[in-house]
Amino acid sequence: MSKPRKVHVKSFGCQMNVYDSHRMADTLAPGGFAETAEPGEADLVILNTCHIREKAVEKVYSEIGRIRVMKEAAAREGRRMLIAVAGCVAQAEGEEIVRRAGVVDLVVGSQNYHRLPGLLARAQAGEKVVDTEFPVEDKFAALAAPARDATAKRGVASFVTVQEGCDKFCTFCVVPYTRGAEVSRPVQQIVAEVEHLAVAGVREITLIGQNVNAFHGAGPDGEAWTLGRLLRRLAQVPGILRLRYTTSHPRDMGDDLIAAHAELPALMPYVHLPVQSGSDRILAAMNRKHTCTDYLAVITRLRAARADLALSSDFIVGFPGETEADFRVTLNLVEEVGFAGAFSFMYSPRPGTPAADMEQVAPEEKAERLQRLQALITRGQRAFNAGFAGRTLDVLLEKPGKLPGQLVGRSPYLQAVQVTAPRSAIGSVQRVTVIEVGSNSLFGEIADAPQLAAVGA
Ligand code: SAM
Ligand code: SF4
Repeated sequence: MSKPRKVHVKSFGCQMNVYDSHRMADTLAPGGFAETAEPGEADLVILNTCHIREKAVEKVYSEIGRIRVMKEAAAREGRRMLIAVAGCVAQAEGEEIVRRAGVVDLVVGSQNYHRLPGLLARAQAGEKVVDTEFPVEDKFAALAAPARDATAKRGVASFVTVQEGCDKFCTFCVVPYTRGAEVSRPVQQIVAEVEHLAVAGVREITLIGQNVNAFHGAGPDGEAWTLGRLLRRLAQVPGILRLRYTTSHPRDMGDDLIAAHAELPALMPYVHLPVQSGSDRILAAMNRKHTCTDYLAVITRLRAARADLALSSDFIVGFPGETEADFRVTLNLVEEVGFAGAFSFMYSPRPGTPAADMEQVAPEEKAERLQRLQALITRGQRAFNAGFAGRTLDVLLEKPGKLPGQLVGRSPYLQAVQVTAPRSAIGSVQRVTVIEVGSNSLFGEIADAPQLAAVGA
């Protein structure tokens, strides 16, 4: 057994990166690396990066600058710290990272991190290592399973990647270039991972993928399974109380998946369904391959299957060619759907994508539209939350809250709910009556005290 060493992995961007960061740590664990939350004491710092918008890239370079100071301090103490850049910036920029930031020892793309132990050995020997080639082997099959104690530390709700990459080529997006072609994991590999997590205490699984509802992984019967079929199988795993999935594309919302919302009590009534814009002209320029009417029709089908289903979305404002009239149609769509929440971004030109070469909207116009859209989204979110005052909801209690004696959990609609309850209730689903609605969370009281006492016993 080699000498114990410490690794700090910092995630930027989406949930997929959070998942990848955990799997990187899992893969390094058999080589003697323990995770640390303190970058300053680490022997290896991995920045798991995001390339989706320009600011995200700049954030990485400024973070490298911060870690550099720690690396120099470690060297003064006679300790060697290695810095690795992983994820989508690594994939997109490759060698450029080592050129621009010579302090970086290792650059590993989003599809290659299962090779980390070998790459690290080369970096330790003094080589500047860059590995961003898309590999032929199955990354997930090559990864080490998470250790039980690592899973326990990561909490009762966990992400599991089931699908990666994208073949849709929206004109604004780098994902097809940084994450590669769309690939689904085999069903049995996913089931085994979920069973492993359930035994370690995980109670909620969110299946993740850039286009998760395009999932078509090979099943044990040799057929390509839909996401709906996968969810039905995972609902049978003992210990798994809740299932979610994200991010979905409106075009891939098949009947089978929608039917799963009517059938499976474990499938939570909340769907993140990015639309990007309400204007058909802009949707066409974005190459989204759906219209606003198509999007609304998907929502009607979802709500017919599950009347209480809540929705969130992603919006881009100031896409090239977007006029005030286009933008107003987006605002109308937001009003019409009544989203429980939404993310909105100013369009950020990404080198190498078609929209980067189109005529750009002025930055101040983008900023002004973003402000108006965000105000409307916030109003909608508050109205959605206000509707829960006095209602009783199932809450999965996840972790200690801010105040002593408090736990924080999630409602079926992904709202954070603060409640007074013993720590032993973490991992259980409790009936909670909402007594106050805050701007970011709900405050509640356990409705069924005897049941909670049984959990505490
Ligand atoms: N695959 C998902 C989909 O089709 O909706 C989303 C993937 S992307 C990681 C998450 C969000 O980032 C997108 O929904 C979009 O709103 C935003 N995004 C992607 N590229 C962008 C860009 N160039 N500028 C601004 N926002 C962008
Ligand atoms: Fe990017 Fe479009 Fe693919 Fe989503 S569907 S990952 S936005 S290219």
